[in-house]
This record gives sequence, structure tokens and C-alpha cells, in this order.
Amino acid sequence: MQRATPQEFSRVLSSMCTEPHPDARAAAERFLATNPGDPGTYETIADIEHEVVAQLGEMVSLPEPAGYVTSGGSEANIQALRIARNRADTDEPNVVAPTSAHFSFHKAAGMLGLELRTAPLDDEYRANTTAMVELADEDTVAVVGVAGTTEHGRVDPIPEIAAIAEEVGALCHIDAAWGGFHLPFTDHEWDFADAPIDTMTIDPHKLGRAVVPAGGLLARSDELLDALAVETPYLESRSQATLTGTRSGAGVASARAALDALWPGGYRDQAERGQANADWLAAALEDRGCSVVDPELPLVAAEVPEKTFEALREMDWRISRTGNGALRVVCMPHVTRETLQAFVDDLDRQE
Ligand code: PLP
Repeated sequence: MQRATPQEFSRVLSSMCTEPHPDARAAAERFLATNPGDPGTYETIADIEHEVVAQLGEMVSLPEPAGYVTSGGSEANIQALRIARNRADTDEPNVVAPTSAHFSFHKAAGMLGLELRTAPLDDEYRANTTAMVELADEDTVAVVGVAGTTEHGRVDPIPEIAAIAEEVGALCHIDAAWGGFHLPFTDHEWDFADAPIDTMTIDPHKLGRAVVPAGGLLARSDELLDALAVETPYLESRSQATLTGTRSGAGVASARAALDALWPGGYRDQAERGQANADWLAAALEDRGCSVVDPELPLVAAEVPEKTFEALREMDWRISRTGNGALRVVCMPHVTRETLQAFVDDLDRQE
């Protein structure tokens, strides 16, 4: 069987995916040959997908959510902007987002003919909402906030961002692809109870411990998803709102199994462990004279010399950098304290 052994996985410090929960792995295998993209034929997996959407809705305080299990956060972000574009009445649609927004928004803008207006960040790497206000106008179809940024794990001021969207009559989309399974256990304001959000990305295949592919798109109402529907003459069902046609039943079933096993207690424990590990690593790096971005979520960004970074990669540590060249370590569930200790020991050997 070709798969990363737990030992190999433990040196992966850059990924936002992780080892799936054992129940998720087993469920994926059972549903390998199913296709939720054809719900009239594959009814069981279609029902399971509704349950996943309902469970995700519960996590983000959204009663009666609409949505589906996407191939990942990129598809969910693309689809959210597509909803916004399809509903809007303008020939020159634009989207306002912070520069920290994931590169999938750039793909979406290119595909959908949208102008992407990016606002700078504040000193704490969060969206500068004053700049966002200036960028938004009557042609703005969506205003985007990120709840758990890819580079620094920051949560944008979501209520302020939702207010900007309301002000210009645009949809508010929140990208919680990575942060969504951690944030319910924090004091951040980020979900549907905190602000008038329209759509959200939240990915079971990241901190949700499902197998890849299992992303999540949630929408406040069926009416929003209807903006994506096309007719499907040769299927048993009549219309489809997803981007891809045939989809992975394995991802859907695994998301359900992971949620059943871990929501909420297991995810809470995982969140506490990940945060404690991030705080520990941040302190260890600071002790060694590195400048560290305070880890608000379990992600540590720190400045280390280029030579050191390259040497650690040579030692087979799977690490990556932020756009500014800082070392970036994501404290995912497979990243243990022992692993981080071994990483710091290797770092010490370089100095
Ligand atoms: N949004 C955020 C905040 C992410 O961090 C990522 C990936 O890391 C994505 C979207 C894209 O997700 P995917 O790679 O599953 O398409």
C-alpha cells in the first residue's frame, strides 16, 4: 500500500491537511465507488451529504444551512464568488478581499471575469477594514473575510467586513477553510451568529480530519445555491449546483464519520493541543532570537536565516515560507510535541 507512514507524516510541518481519523479512513473506503454528484442514483451518499451540511451548519451557528461537500477550499471559494457574480446586476463586477486571501480567489476572479481588489493588512496581519471600505462600491458583488489566514493564522474582523458588504449591497463570504474546525473553541467573532454572513468555506479535509477530497461550502439559504443551478437532463435528478460533476463519495462519507467521532469533544481536545504546541514552538523560537508572529491560531510564522531554512529542508523537514520569507509551521493534529522538539533540536544544530 502506497501511503505516507505516520513517521513520514510527522516531518510534514507545512501542510494544512493531516492524518485522517481512523473512522474517516474506513468510511472513505466503504463509499469509494459512490457519486454524490448523481443523487438520484446514489441516494445513500446524497443523504449522508445532507447530514454533513447540517452538522457543519451546527458548528458555525447556521440553522437550516444550504451547501455541499466540495473538492476543497478552492472550489468552495470559487463557487461562493460565482454565486455573488450570478446574482449581481452589474457589467463590471468586483470583489473586495484582504491581500491575505488565499490564491484561489485569484483563480476565481480570472475564471469569473471579476476584478479582485485587495486591501492591505494592518500591523497584526488582519484585513485593514478602512482600506476595504474605500475599495467597495456599487459594483462590488462580494466582500471577503478570512477566518484563519493561510500564512499567519489570523482572523479578520468579520462583523466589520459583513457590515461593509451590507453597506454596498454585496454578499459577505468568509473563508474559514482551515480555521473553521478550531474557531468554535475560541473567543473569536467569526461565524453566522456573530455577523450577517452569506456564504462560508469550511473544509473537513483540513482540521476536520476527513480524507481528501472533502471541502465545504455553506450558504445561508437554498436561494443562494440556486444561483449556481444548471439543468441535468441525463441524470435522475433535475439540476446540479456543484462545480464538478462526478464527486467523491469517499470524501463525503469520511467527513460524516470524522464529525460523528470528533464533534465537539474531540475537536476541542485537538484545538487545545494544537494551540499549546504552537505556543510552545513560538516560545522556543523566540528564546533562540527569532522574531515570531504571535500564534493566534495553531500556526507559527518566524524569521529564520535563509541558510538555516534550507538546512532544515535538507534534513527532510517539510517546511514552507510566507510571502515575506518567514518560516511557517502549521501545528496540525499529526504534529506532536516530540516532533517539534526534534525540529528545534535540529535547528540548534544549525546555529
Ligand atoms: N482557503 C484557505 C484559508 C486555505 O488555507 C486554503 C488552503 O490551504 C484554501 C482556501 C484552499 O483549499 P484547498 O487546497 O483545499 O483547495
